[in-house]
Amino acid sequence: MSAIYEALEKVTLVSDGAMGTMLQDRGLTDGGAPELWNVEKPEEIEAVLEAYAAAGANFITTNTFGGTAGRLAMHGLEDRLAELNKAGAVIARKVADRHPGCFVMGDIGPSGELMDPMGTLTPETGKALFSAQISALVAGGVDAILIETMSDLGEVEAAVAAAQEVAPGLPIIVTMSFDTNLRTMMGVKPAMAIKHLAALGVRIIGANCGRGTDEMSQIAKELVEARPEGVFVITQSNAGLPKLQGDEFIYDGTPEEMARYAAEMKDLGVNIVGSCCGSSPAHTQSIAAAL
Ligand SMILES: [Zn+2]
Repeated sequence: MSAIYEALEKVTLVSDGAMGTMLQDRGLTDGGAPELWNVEKPEEIEAVLEAYAAAGANFITTNTFGGTAGRLAMHGLEDRLAELNKAGAVIARKVADRHPGCFVMGDIGPSGELMDPMGTLTPETGKALFSAQISALVAGGVDAILIETMSDLGEVEAAVAAAQEVAPGLPIIVTMSFDTNLRTMMGVKPAMAIKHLAALGVRIIGANCGRGTDEMSQIAKELVEARPEGVFVITQSNAGLPKLQGDEFIYDGTPEEMARYAAEMKDLGVNIVGSCCGSSPAHTQSIAAAL
C-alpha cells in the first residue's frame, strides 16, 4: 500500500500553496509559460517548492498545471511536453527527498478543452491527452497524480482512466473547484463528486480554489457527509477573496485566517489541508502550525 494512505490513516496532512503567483513575484510575465521554467529556471521552481516543504507541506505540487498538449500549444511548446513535465517532476522529487515525509503530487490541470458535445474531447481522446502528461510525470518520479481545479466529471473520468492505466498503483488525488454557488462551473455538487469519483476507485477527493474559506467550510461539510468508506478528503482553499488593487488582484486572506480555516477543516474530518490562489509559504506554515 502506498505510504501516502498509511500516513493519512494516522494524521491530518498539509499540502502546499500557490505556484503561479510565486513565479510572477520571481519575474514570470503574464502570458509566459510557467512550465518552461522547469528547464530554463529550475532553481526558481526548486526555491518555491523548497520554501513550501520547509514551511511544513507534506505534499508539494509539480509546476505542470498547464502541461497538457493543448495548453502547451498556446505557447508553441507542445513538442516539448515530455521534457517539460518530466523536468517539473524531477525538481519536486529532489526537494521532497530532502524532507522526510514529503510527497510529490504530479500536477494535472484542466485540458482547456470541453467534452463532447459542447467541445471536441471524447473519453478516448481525453484519456490519450492526459496519458502523455502522466507518463512524463511518472518518469520524473512523482508519488501521486493530482487532477485539480476540475469542473467536468467527464474530463476527470478521462484523466483518472489515464492515471489508472499509465501509473497503476500510484494514488490519484482529485480536486474540483466548486466556485459557482457551491457547485462547479458545470453544475457538479460536492456530494455528487465524491460519490462518483470514489466509485471510479479514487481514494483522495476534495475541493480546491473557490471563493474563500467560508465557502470552503460549507463544501468540506458536504464532502465529509457524503464520503464513502475508505475515502480521504482534501481541501485547498484560496487565501481569502481577490480584491482589485491598482491593476492587479490581491488575495485578502492572512496567514491567521488560514490557521483558523485549517483548524476547522481538521475538526470537520478533512485529511489533507492546503491552500490555493493567493497563498504563500507563510500561509502553509500557519496551516501546519494549526494542525
Ligand atoms: Zn486557486
